[in-house]
Amino acid sequence: MALSYKKDLEEEVVNLEIAKIVEEVAFNILKQAVIYLPEDVKEALRKASKEETSATAKTQLEAIMDNVELAERYQAPVCQDTGTIIFYAKAGSQVKNLDRIEEALVKATQRATKEVPLRPNAVDPFTQKNSGDNTGRLIPYVNWEIVPGDSLELTVMPKGGGSENVCVTGTLVPGEGIRGLKKFVIDAVIKAGAQPCPPTILGIAIGGGVDISIKLAKKALLRPLNEQNPDPEIAKIEEEIFEAANMTGIGPMGLGGKTTVLGVHIDYAYRHPASFPAAVAFNCWASRRAAARISADGTIEYLTRKAKS
Ligand code: SF4
Repeated sequence: MALSYKKDLEEEVVNLEIAKIVEEVAFNILKQAVIYLPEDVKEALRKASKEETSATAKTQLEAIMDNVELAERYQAPVCQDTGTIIFYAKAGSQVKNLDRIEEALVKATQRATKEVPLRPNAVDPFTQKNSGDNTGRLIPYVNWEIVPGDSLELTVMPKGGGSENVCVTGTLVPGEGIRGLKKFVIDAVIKAGAQPCPPTILGIAIGGGVDISIKLAKKALLRPLNEQNPDPEIAKIEEEIFEAANMTGIGPMGLGGKTTVLGVHIDYAYRHPASFPAAVAFNCWASRRAAARISADGTIEYLTRKAKS
């Protein structure tokens, strides 16, 4: 009896430690994400600024880059809208105490709201009451993926409201295929105009069902801009949509120019023969993400930014 009590106690200590590590790591990546834009996004902004021919567009991109630099210097969020907090948890099937993780992510979000600080953005849709700490029913939202192994990879995406408001889903005419998809995406870009704070990144997905396509589209926003789609046929469609979107002339912050999007990322699932679900998720220039991996022995590797904070 005494032995089992000791074992239970030891297990409880291990559980608490794991929860603490996850909380600390989630806090750190959330802080990193809101302050530091990923290098690939910064590089795409610099490249766009060099290539823009419109003086207004250049000024807008330079203002964005100044903003990015000031955020890093003063350790302040790069945009006042620190978004809805979304986590992607890639959990090895042998990771222990998975049931403790969501609670740790909630605590990390509450702590980051106070200490970074983050703007409180979680509102009860019935009462309109803001929870004040970026948490509430299903928020932060956690997307789970179970993979082989014993490590846990956490990615956070603080998702701004302006770009969220123009995300679209639809069911296309199957016979129109990819031509129909291109029209659907460009219509969405034109309709969105300046609302999503362009230049944006477009996450596009087709197939599955309406729920599956929007989930895949949003996840596609996590792919770094300098990472090519592994499928050359899809990479070609991405390039075509990229060029067409940049021909709309919406430009940085909607003030005209040739940089309306910084990248186009497509994902897909197989579809029902009678349905062609499609979704476009927008991310604004403040396209934030940060990730870390926690190994079974407690080792932490920060994947998007090596420094802890
Ligand atoms: S859409 Fe993005 S850049 Fe615009 S206010 Fe929201 S978070 Fe900031």
